[in-house]
Amino acid sequence: MHDEVLMIGGGVAGCAASIALARKGRSVTMIEREPAPRHKVCGEFLSGEALEDLHLLGIDAASLGAVPIDYVRLATTRRAATAPLPFPAKSLTRKTLDTALIAEAISAGVRVECGRSVESLSRTADNHWQATLDDGTTYKAPTAFLATGKHDLRGHRRPKDRHQWVGFKMYFRLSAAQTADLADASELTLYAGGYGGIQPVEDGMANFCCVVQRRYFARAGLRWESLLAKMKQDCPHLAMRLEGAQPLLDKPITIAHIPYGYIRRETEDGLYCIGDQAAVIPSFTGDGISIALHTARRAAAAYLAGESAPIFQAKLRTAMLPQMRIAELAANGMNNALARAVLPFCLRIWPGAMRVTAKLTRVTQPAAQAFAG
Ligand SMILES: Cc1cc2nc3c(=O)[nH]c(=O)nc-3n(C[C@H](O)[C@H](O)[C@H](O)COP(=O)(O)OP(=O)(O)OC[C@H]3O[C@@H](n4cnc5c(N)ncnc54)[C@H](O)[C@@H]3O)c2cc1C
Repeated sequence: MHDEVLMIGGGVAGCAASIALARKGRSVTMIEREPAPRHKVCGEFLSGEALEDLHLLGIDAASLGAVPIDYVRLATTRRAATAPLPFPAKSLTRKTLDTALIAEAISAGVRVECGRSVESLSRTADNHWQATLDDGTTYKAPTAFLATGKHDLRGHRRPKDRHQWVGFKMYFRLSAAQTADLADASELTLYAGGYGGIQPVEDGMANFCCVVQRRYFARAGLRWESLLAKMKQDCPHLAMRLEGAQPLLDKPITIAHIPYGYIRRETEDGLYCIGDQAAVIPSFTGDGISIALHTARRAAAAYLAGESAPIFQAKLRTAMLPQMRIAELAANGMNNALARAVLPFCLRIWPGAMRVTAKLTRVTQPAAQAFAG
């Protein structure tokens, strides 16, 4: 292979970086292990920064059916508090979003190889990166971008997730009354073993996506039905929201060992790590997609400007560290029984707190030129 860049992973970050590089005339091969985009564990909330970056990539979320989200509602054991979001936001299923991104990558001239999985990535004696695929094929390029999301490649593993988080996503059809009540809000529900989010997505569906610590899941017998019953018991608002709702998937989509709070410290020459491979923010912020786009944009700009991968990675870490730590602190607070008990009272006294938290946990900055054609 004679391409300049090898992109490993064709999710949000991989597609975004590939498009940015191809638009600047670089030859890119992107390898994605799924034959076609599928549902992923994700709350599917698109923040204002994410919408702006997607727009620069040529993707108009509204025309794909994205639903406007204007409010955030926090529901704990007894009470729910609502606040307007301090930025425009929408929700869109990942299947639709990823389909649009791959189509855009192809039209930008990226060579897209779907349904092929990279097994390992190693440095060769002639200073290239070599990816070995599951069928034994090898691809070589002077530069590689690691964009495999939550999945680690052999030899490039991130530290283990201490809390053993497990994530679930299920679509529901709510009743007309529940749909009207949820309206244009993203609802964050807190319970003893984690938190979940419920919000409308396209085609009249509601996305319920949650994370729980493994020991909480174990107490529910490691079964989704019992877990859902336990979360509803802990959070009556969730029980009310999902009462009689029709599940739209045979079983939830799941993911284990989410390394929340991870920020990559370093990388090797010629290997730019982006998206969840660069940083994993607690999911309640709804900022992961935005970070994936932001890191892709910065990495593409760094590569085009001749900035080495280790320098890029170190600068990215420094820039993202403060907000990542604030997001982690807030997530730990939500996980604390006392904090959960007092939160509704605090929000009654100062409803603006949710808006402030939403602003403080934004990691990304306004979009720059790297995505423009
Ligand atoms: C429970 C939960 C809820 C979330 N909710 C939100 C939310 O509401 N809003 C938000 O903005 N973010 C949310 N996120 C975060 C968001 O989903 C991620 O941060 C984002 O998808 C990261 O993008 P990425 O490109 O790094 O990874 P992905 O989009 O996951 O893409 C990685 C791609 O790499 C491919 N791949 C993996 N391994 C290989 C391999 N070996 N070879 C080839 N291809 C490979 C995968 O198939 C995948 O397509 C949530 C995350 C979780 C866990």
